[in-house]
Amino acid sequence: MSWETDLKGHPCFNRSASTRYGRVHLPVAPRCNVKCRYCDRRGDCPNESGPGAASRVLCPDEALAELKRLMARDQRIRVAAVAGPGDPLANEETFHTLDLVHREFPELIKCLSTNGLLLSDRVPMLKALGVKSVTVTVNAVDPRVAEPVYEWVRYRDETYRGRQAAARLVLNQLEGIWRAVRLGLAVKVNTVLIPGVNEGHVAEISRVVKGLGVRLMNVMPLVPRAGFRDLPAPGAAMMRAARTAAGAFTPQMDWCRQCRADAAGLLGECGRI
Ligand code: SF4
Ligand code: SF4
Repeated sequence: MSWETDLKGHPCFNRSASTRYGRVHLPVAPRCNVKCRYCDRRGDCPNESGPGAASRVLCPDEALAELKRLMARDQRIRVAAVAGPGDPLANEETFHTLDLVHREFPELIKCLSTNGLLLSDRVPMLKALGVKSVTVTVNAVDPRVAEPVYEWVRYRDETYRGRQAAARLVLNQLEGIWRAVRLGLAVKVNTVLIPGVNEGHVAEISRVVKGLGVRLMNVMPLVPRAGFRDLPAPGAAMMRAARTAAGAFTPQMDWCRQCRADAAGLLGECGRI
């Protein structure tokens, strides 16, 4: 079955599904292995979420119980995902939860978002757990552009800083995306548009990830905070220009609602589990 058929009920991969079908984000992943400079850790991972307080963290059994409750009352749910509040792949609870969900609801589309550091290592496991779609936040494909975005990166018991951190992350992201696509997962890329940092680089990101087989790209505006609190938020004209430039390569998602890590229901309804 093609990914288009497989994912036709996914509200984030298919615009026409976004007003009819819903998703549930199961907040089972509090820890993170990267420090993005726009993240203050008091909210959900900003690579996927808008500003706000962190979601309450559930253990895998609680997450399954919440999902059962929601599935019983909302027939529109088609997707069960893990999107934080930290990086899903940096938390073993994510895999345990996806396993429970896949056994109970094999028909649901399993999905997750990640910074991509561990994607290449974990793709076979995701595939085995029935995951069909992944969102990876890629803010640069050149370590020189990525360097100011990341304070540190922790990979296999090593902590990297500066250019080394950026190079490690970019390499792992691109390798992870390549592997995920080869194993049949649908991949979407999120890019946080950071004025003065990657605003002229978005089309290049789009070109490179398109070459790896990425289906959809979502350019999101920076919410200035933490280490980037003094940067301006990108205006509407800058966002439009970036999406147009990126759209020359990869189709653009412009209906993302930057949902919480415990979002539930249709994208526009602001529901929570
Ligand atoms: Fe924060 Fe998400 Fe970056 Fe981790 S990956 S530091 S949770 S923005
Ligand atoms: Fe979909 Fe965007 Fe919400 Fe993720 S944050 S569930 S991509 S609308």
